Amino acid sequence: MDFEVAIIGGGLAGLSLAIQLSKAGHRVILFEKEQYPFHKVCGEYISMESWDFLESIGLPLTEMQLPRITKLAISDCKGRLLRHTLSPGGFGISRYTLDDRLALIARSCGAELLSGTKVTDITFSSDRHLLKTTAGNFTAKVVCGAWGKRANLDIKLNRPFIESTKQNAQQYIGVKYHVKLDFPLHLIELHNFEDGYCGISPVDNNRLCLCYLTTAQKLQQNNNNIRLLENNLLKKNPVLNRYFSNAEFLYEEPLAISQISFAAKTLVEDHIFMTGDSAGMITPLCGNGMSMALHSSKLLSGVIIEYLGGKLTRSQAEDRYTNLWRKNFNSRLRAGRIFQQLFGKPAVTNLTLKSLSYFPGLTSKLIDLTHGGVF
Ligand SMILES: Cc1cc2nc3c(=O)[nH]c(=O)nc-3n(C[C@H](O)[C@H](O)[C@H](O)COP(=O)(O)OP(=O)(O)OC[C@H]3O[C@@H](n4cnc5c(N)ncnc54)[C@H](O)[C@@H]3O)c2cc1C
Repeated sequence: MDFEVAIIGGGLAGLSLAIQLSKAGHRVILFEKEQYPFHKVCGEYISMESWDFLESIGLPLTEMQLPRITKLAISDCKGRLLRHTLSPGGFGISRYTLDDRLALIARSCGAELLSGTKVTDITFSSDRHLLKTTAGNFTAKVVCGAWGKRANLDIKLNRPFIESTKQNAQQYIGVKYHVKLDFPLHLIELHNFEDGYCGISPVDNNRLCLCYLTTAQKLQQNNNNIRLLENNLLKKNPVLNRYFSNAEFLYEEPLAISQISFAAKTLVEDHIFMTGDSAGMITPLCGNGMSMALHSSKLLSGVIIEYLGGKLTRSQAEDRYTNLWRKNFNSRLRAGRIFQQLFGKPAVTNLTLKSLSYFPGLTSKLIDLTHGGVF
């Protein structure tokens, strides 16, 4: 019941961290509250910057014959399209497949993976963490928070972003479907509607992921009814209207999440290292939260290996990780927040897209601002 490293949350950040640390010979336990495989609200477009990293931790992407996405089309609220090349672009894979495959790799590398197990409390004393979970109590020298955008533990730890979200920041909801539709394999589309946007792109298994983000307020104005929201808002964009009318929807019910906020977060809290969305969430519009989650796990893994190897004290490790994270991601998050303001407001969106259509070089520069290099 005692481990060198305990990781809370088995999404991309947590699983890839468990793989790297187990491969380096450390005793790792990971807790995931759901059972694999399971669906997750996500646009499922991964920027190419993650390709080499995923292969290096054991995922045979080249063999998986995934859709390679190299073109982008963005529509304004009236359905007028701006087309652009994505270079280097990305690839499509469902979270159902991706997280499950990574969980198998983590287990095969020797990580203890407790799925269906929720962590309910964490306390730190005498240089060790005590974790209370639905499968009993555990202790660990290092704890990593990889629990995603918002979880019970954020409230338990009294994290400052929870309070600031309540007071100021706009809250969003996300909705996802898998659909079948005649759609090019190399294309991702982003369609604007009032107070939101909807992405559509191919994933594995001959499906498309259709996923949108809008404000919690818009859902409330539509009696908290997702179908009503789609009819009254999304379908006003003629392209989305066509897709919603012609697509074969593969789930009985949409998959939805709420309380999404892009507020800044702390990177170390009560000696817990935060990674992935627990450390900071980029707006989905930028299409690379998954790459950031994977990249941040690589940064954290390096720091933890040095700490466990005695090369850094705990406080040096905390400072090193905080600095590395900020250096790599702060400007991307800032750009993402600015772009979020430009989309979903009909007049601003229309003007932005119209202006960008005259300056393709500028469009490429803006896309680059939200993406990182290979890591
Ligand atoms: C609408 C929307 C669309 C998006 N589209 C894209 C896209 O196209 N491309 C892209 O790159 N990114 C996209 N993102 C962002 C991307 O989904 C996230 O950045 C990414 O999933 C973060 O991974 P993570 O490992 O940090 O968190 P997650 O993948 O959320 O994993 C966290 C895990 O922790 C578990 N957990 C939570 N609390 C506990 C607990 N107490 N105990 C145990 N387990 C717990 C959860 O069950 C979950 O499995 C999108 C996000 C949204 C909201």
